[in-house]
Amino acid sequence: MSSIVRDIVIAGGGTAGWLTAGVLAADHGERLRIRVIESPDVATIGVGEGTWPTMRDTLRRIGIAESTLFRECDAAFKQGSRFDGWRDGSAQDRYFHPFSLPHGYLDADLAAVWLDGGAERPFAETVTPQVAVCRHGKAPKQAATPEYAAVVNYAYHLDAVKLGTLLREHCIQSLGVEHIADHIEGVESRDDGDIAALRLRERGRVTGDLFVDCTGLRSLLLGQHFEVPFIGQRDVLFNDRALALQVPYADASAEIASQTISTAQDSGWIWDIGLPTRRGIGHVYSSAHTSDAEAEAALARYVAASGGAGELPAARQIRFEPGYRARFWERNCVGIGLAAGFIEPLEASAIVLIELSAALLSEDFPAFRQDMHIVARRFNDTFAYRWRRVIDFLKLHYVLSQRTGSAYWRDHRADASVPTELRELLRLWRYRAPSQRDFPRGEEIFPSASWQYILYGMGFRAENLVGRRESSGKSLGFFAETERATRRLLDALPGNRALIDHIRARGLPPI
Ligand SMILES: Cc1cc2nc3c(=O)[nH]c(=O)nc-3n(C[C@H](O)[C@H](O)[C@H](O)COP(=O)(O)OP(=O)(O)OC[C@H]3O[C@@H](n4cnc5c(N)ncnc54)[C@H](O)[C@@H]3O)c2cc1C
Repeated sequence: MSSIVRDIVIAGGGTAGWLTAGVLAADHGERLRIRVIESPDVATIGVGEGTWPTMRDTLRRIGIAESTLFRECDAAFKQGSRFDGWRDGSAQDRYFHPFSLPHGYLDADLAAVWLDGGAERPFAETVTPQVAVCRHGKAPKQAATPEYAAVVNYAYHLDAVKLGTLLREHCIQSLGVEHIADHIEGVESRDDGDIAALRLRERGRVTGDLFVDCTGLRSLLLGQHFEVPFIGQRDVLFNDRALALQVPYADASAEIASQTISTAQDSGWIWDIGLPTRRGIGHVYSSAHTSDAEAEAALARYVAASGGAGELPAARQIRFEPGYRARFWERNCVGIGLAAGFIEPLEASAIVLIELSAALLSEDFPAFRQDMHIVARRFNDTFAYRWRRVIDFLKLHYVLSQRTGSAYWRDHRADASVPTELRELLRLWRYRAPSQRDFPRGEEIFPSASWQYILYGMGFRAENLVGRRESSGKSLGFFAETERATRRLLDALPGNRALIDHIRARGLPPI
């Protein structure tokens, strides 16, 4: 007899637990019983303020209004990232990774034509208006643009703790998800090795058909119970600690940056994320290359130099082991979020991996236990690929740096620390631009355009370009259109804070 998979138990109620519950409940309705167990004793990680544009689709799918997000989570627009000091650390060293694809990207080899033309103007500025939009403090849409629609592509910066609260309330009140506030003390197995039940301190046993491990860095089910091996990445991406701070604006009406600002440091980098109410600032660093005291001093210098106001509390330290699990789906258990793995937060890849995991779990949902191994194999294969791509993409930010003066950056360039596939791609990109052929799977987290933005932003140049150039006239036409669009958008778009204030007060038109 086939056993139907109906009873879903999600262990952990952070961003991973509630996003997964929301997607499953919105897609499957009453067909599934979904319970989220959240320990009253274990706080969520409380960071994770930068997202990817996929978040717009995810929140719409779950049924949360965009204006609610702005009001309740202190959300702001994020249009990409700005990298300061990554190339050589000089005062002029700054480039953008915007979220919008280059204009004409699918119709012409823009990068080749830009390289042929001497590559004098920064690549991102040549191919998209978004860099100018960010630089002029403009929002990515207008007050009349409907909810979740964009004029230029965007994601959010938001308060992670408030996002957790909003997701929890919405899941319970609107989607029928059950919430159990209790501490998981043990795991009970069936004879075949499946998880039969979780043992809770107050409530006793909670049985289920499928268990989702969202217990954060503890990885209670996937890591501790199943002992799925951990694939460490410390030899590729060295950062293993972060110091996080919340910093008030000196002037409450100060403009809100609509990109994450990532500033290179001697042994790591500092994120700076602007919300309407405060900034979130943190130093991610390698404990093998610097001390906690030096990292804290670098953070304090950054805050002072960037206009941080008033007396600040001590920064909160978070330690993590960079890497991911060899399998994400084991028997009747799927790991999502930090329980599945974590690599430094450069480029905000963690929450997008949660969204993609929840979406794949929901869309490829195994109706019967007997078929679960098929779905599990596909899930494991997809996410092993995605983790490798994320790691290669993050490493790209370091490997091209010419910074000297600290062992951290020299070690990042050492051949032994560069994954083979990235090393091979870099050889090909010496004579042609990154293209979709290099990233053949559907739903790549970072499209080939993102690789171009980083590669050329970091100053990488190709020689002896191969390939057809008949598109050069077309490309030059796209560059000219981009310039015209830039002028139009700078006139038409409201200021970032002005639009955020408007949305908080008056909302946005429905879709
Ligand atoms: C410094 C830093 C900066 C980051 N910045 C970003 C960013 O900008 N963008 C991005 O995409 N990601 C970022 N991340 C990652 C992001 O924070 C996480 O991916 C995200 O918050 C999801 O966390 P989680 O839900 O997996 O785990 P957690 O938030 O840790 O939640 C774990 C849950 O498990 C529960 N739990 C644990 N043990 C038990 C138990 N025994 N019984 C019951 N419940 C239990 C807890 O109560 C909690 O509800 C960052 C991470 C770090 C460390």
